[in-house]
This record gives sequence, structure tokens and C-alpha cells, in this order.
Amino acid sequence: MTPSERGKLIWKIGDLILEHADELAELESVDNGKPRVVARVADVPLAADIFHYMAGWATKIEGNTIPISVPYAPGANFHAFTLREPIGVVGQIIPWNFPLLMAAWKLAPALTTGNCVVLKPAEQTPLTALRLGELILEAGLPEGVVNIVTGFGETAGAALASHDDVDKIAFTGSTEVGKIIVRAAAGNLKKVSLELGGKSPNIIFKDAGDLNAAIAGAANAIFFNHGQCCCAGSRLMVERDIFDQVVEGVAEQAKKIKIGPGLAADTEMGPLVSEEQLQRVTRYMNQGKQEGACYVTGGARSGQNGYFVQPTVIKDVKPKMSIVREEIFGPVVVAEPFAKPEEVIPRANQTEYGLAAGVWTRDISKAHRIAAQLKAGTVWVNCYNVFDAALPFGGYKQSGWGREMGHEVLNLYTQTKAVVLGL
Ligand code: NDP
Repeated sequence: MTPSERGKLIWKIGDLILEHADELAELESVDNGKPRVVARVADVPLAADIFHYMAGWATKIEGNTIPISVPYAPGANFHAFTLREPIGVVGQIIPWNFPLLMAAWKLAPALTTGNCVVLKPAEQTPLTALRLGELILEAGLPEGVVNIVTGFGETAGAALASHDDVDKIAFTGSTEVGKIIVRAAAGNLKKVSLELGGKSPNIIFKDAGDLNAAIAGAANAIFFNHGQCCCAGSRLMVERDIFDQVVEGVAEQAKKIKIGPGLAADTEMGPLVSEEQLQRVTRYMNQGKQEGACYVTGGARSGQNGYFVQPTVIKDVKPKMSIVREEIFGPVVVAEPFAKPEEVIPRANQTEYGLAAGVWTRDISKAHRIAAQLKAGTVWVNCYNVFDAALPFGGYKQSGWGREMGHEVLNLYTQTKAVVLGL
């Protein structure tokens, strides 16, 4: 296919997602539990947007001409250039927290760069990926270019990660499984990109200006998508003078969140994705209590039916506690006070993860200084959870390898060939 034809087709996939936005939002809600209204305004349009954004790149994947000197061949003339070629067969394994969006983040750049894909959605949430597969065929992509294969991680996922005919594996999920993928990929040394977990600090300084905006931002940072976000602002770090006010404010926001079934129009927070996830999140909640933390609000399951949990704000925590160190992946935030900026940075960076961070200050120099010092793939200043197809996303440290979205992602799905002609 010519780059232009490919670009038009990828654009059409974005259009078809928008045309089926209501249907996809409903499927996502039924499958994952997230509010349909949220899926309709966030997940679905963002999924369409990455196809539209990537469509433009299809005609702009260029190599370079490179003047070379070759010191051991005096007088010889060469013409050297690079080609950027697709990697080949790409395996993609995605999680259940943003099922359609993760499929889109993975498929759009792989197709733009001319690869073929086998994509495995999470066993809990395969519906939108399957529907997207149908829409991709409807857009006119030849059969066999995109293959959606459902199945469990230990079988279907593991087979994909270790298969000798798969040239690259792209994975989003837990850091634990990310390491399994790396080991499985070693057999044929396939290329690997990983978008993994996080325990992201969200730092509020007393010069944040509009404190209500910072409080609302901190609540959104942890409670959006029921805290089932790899970049959730799960460690709230607040300058001591305003600590009580901010923690109370976030707790007030937590209490106001309307919990209910995903399909109900007024639901703001649906159930967690599965029984397993409910057990995991409530186990962390109980551990925090046993370790002596103070629960400002929440801390338990919500009701007796379904996988609902209370939005939870915890203080009086210590660095060693599991709730402070580990990714809970639920609506649970730990709040810690700090005295000085010099003190907060090492503490914010004191984690094996490095996916995202938030900073709230109106002091522009401080904002730049702190952003530079945070070891995180994304730093949001006076905002949180801002995503865009043009913005690279990915992790420092054990939060991953490589960047998704933006033009950086094109590097993950192409390889460079140097061609040298003796003249
Ligand atoms: P996993 O990392 O296990 O799942 C992510 C994907 O990997 C799923 O498609 C899963 O398949 C697949 N998978 C699982 N095991 C293997 C394997 N051995 N080889 C290949 N693929 C595999 O996450 P979980 O769903 O188990 O969630 C557990 C925790 O992981 C969460 O509580 C959260 O902390 C974290 N997580 C982080 C995410 C992130 O975006 N950073 C996303 C999801 C979870 P399947 O589940 O279908 O069997």
C-alpha cells in the first residue's frame, strides 16, 4: 500500500470509531464497569484521535541522506542514506483499564508504519477490541493485517511474547508481567516496548494559588477511572502549612463521588473491573490499617454487591508501608506533608517507578526546577491527566521502555537501514 493510501485508511478508522461512539462507549462500560458517560467523552474520542493523528504521519516517515567521510578510503565517493522500515509482525498485549484506548494507542502507530499486528486484549475486557477489529476491516484494511486474539495472559499472551515469528512485542500492564515479557522475548531477541505501572507523586506547594483547583486536580488525579490508571496520582505530597486543608478538601471530594453501575447516567465511579481487583484493593486497604495509617475517608468495600470500593484518602503513612510503595490500582491515595522543596524531590523520586508526576505552584522558576528534577516520563504542572495523541507517554525506571504517542512512537515500530552506494 502507498503511504498515502495507508494514511487515508487509518484516518477512516478514526472516523468509524467516532461514528460508533455511543456503541463503543456502552460496550466499554458493560465490559469494564467504567461510567458510559466517561467512556463517551474520554476513551472513545481519544481512541479516534490517535488514528487521526497517526494518519498524517503515514506520508512522513523519512530517512536521511548522510554525508560520509570513510577515512580509510581516500578519494572514494559514496552516496549514503537511511530507510525507515516496518519491523514486521508485531505482538501487542493490553490491559483492561482503558481497553479501547490501549488498543488504539497500540494499533494506530503499528499500522501507520506498515506493520502487521496480533493484538491480545485482557481477558476481562475483550469486547471493544473485537468491535474495533470489525471496524478496521470495514475501513478497508486487508484481512490478516490486524488479528485480534482473545485468551489468557499465561497462554495466549505468553505464546505471543515468546513466538519466534513475532518480531516485536508491545506490552502495557503490570511491571511484574513486563519482566516476564522481557524474559520471554529473549528467545529470538524480539524488540520490546513496555508501558508499566506507577506510583506517581502529586506535589502541592503552598504557593499553588487557587487551592480549590489544586484540590480538585488532586482528586481527579487519583479517582479518575476508579484509580485504575497507570499514572494515577496515588502519592499526594502537600506542603505542611496547607496539608490539613488539602487533605480535608480531597476527602470532601471523595465523599461526594456518586458510586453506581457504569450504565447509570449519574454514575461518577463504577465498580472495579473484577472480583480479583476488588480483593487486591481491599487487601491493601486492610494492610494500611494494620500498619497504623489514618483513614480520613473510605477504606473499605462499598455495599455488598458488585466490585465497588469507597474512594479513600489516607494520612499518617510511613515510607516503608506497602500502600506507599506499591501500585494499588484503585481509588486510594496516601497523603504526606513536607516542609521544603529540597526535601520533597528525593522523596517523590524514592520509588522504583517513574511514569508521571504532578506539581502545583504559581512560581514559574520553581515549576521548571522541580519538573526537571522529577524522574518521571510526564510531569503535569497545575494540571493532571492531560493526554494528547501528539504528546509522548511512557516511563522512567521500572515504568517502562519507550514512548507511546507523539512522533516518538514511530521509532518503536520502525527500524533503520543504512544504504551505502559506491559512486
Ligand atoms: P497484567 O499485567 O497481568 O495484565 C496485562 C495484560 O498482560 C493482560 O492482557 C494479561 O492477560 C497479560 N498477561 C498476563 N500474564 C501474562 C504472561 N505471562 N505473558 C503474556 N501476557 C500476560 O495485569 P492484571 O490484569 O493482572 O492486573 C494486576 C495489576 O497490574 C493491577 O492491579 C495493576 O497494579 C497492574 N496493572 C497495571 C496496568 C498499567 O497500565 N500500568 C494495567 C493493568 C494492570 P490476561 O489478564 O488476559 O490473562
